[in-house]
Amino acid sequence: MSEQRIVVLTGAGISAESGIRTFRDGDGLWEEHRIEDVATPQAWQADPMFVWRFYQARRRQMLEVEPNPAHVALADLAARHEEFILITQNVDDLHERAGNQSTIHMHGRLKTLRCEASGQHAVKMGEGDLQDEFLTCQCCVEAQRLRPDIVWFGEMPMHMEEIYAAVEQCDIFLVVGSSGHVYPASGLVNIANAAGAKTILVNLEPPVNADAFAEVHLGKAGEILPALIENLP
Ligand code: NAD
Repeated sequence: MSEQRIVVLTGAGISAESGIRTFRDGDGLWEEHRIEDVATPQAWQADPMFVWRFYQARRRQMLEVEPNPAHVALADLAARHEEFILITQNVDDLHERAGNQSTIHMHGRLKTLRCEASGQHAVKMGEGDLQDEFLTCQCCVEAQRLRPDIVWFGEMPMHMEEIYAAVEQCDIFLVVGSSGHVYPASGLVNIANAAGAKTILVNLEPPVNADAFAEVHLGKAGEILPALIENLP
């Protein structure tokens, strides 16, 4: 067991080789949808059915994809370290299915749905939960509409206290598959640098915050990560 404290932050790029499209790449979801139309509280207010169906399609797709070698490599890394924390901006469950059960989802999860009134969330992945019609909760006296359990643009990311505490104390901070456009995730590398951690990036193209990293590996995560992780202390 290594004594190095490792924190990993992943973004949409790590799931690209599993067949889940990223947001901002040439073939990304934003080619077909504007952020404002599907991933903001305003979109949910203006056209909830359109937003609901967009996320129901993402939830159904999750059942058809599998973790790739990059997810598996991070599960191997976790197994070698007593102090290992995996933070993801992703809403899919591929890290868990590769073996990283305690992944922190800062932007929410597709597999759970949230009651709009009480805020309670629960796993809802049965066949009847994946249709195009709205679903209602079982927690309120008068059943309320459920919403995707996703942090939309303009909403507060989840678990930030825990995330800041982890990054402030790490020895190695590894970021995989993130364009560096979405704050506060993109700013975590600065906290890691200030804490004296070694900062490493794996991404297909240089992201906007590439200069902040001590070590940059450009290419596909599924090809780079397995070897990179072998060589980490
Ligand atoms: P992004 O779409 O903005 O950026 C993805 C980055 O991954 C790009 O810089 C791209 O060059 C890189 N990339 C693409 N293929 C790669 C590969 N095979 N290996 C390594 N890197 C690769 O995504 P982001 O930075 O995560 O931020 C945007 C938001 O997207 C997040 O909030 C996240 O919740 C959401 N999102 C999640 C999923 C998912 O859960 N799988 C999918 C799409 C978007």
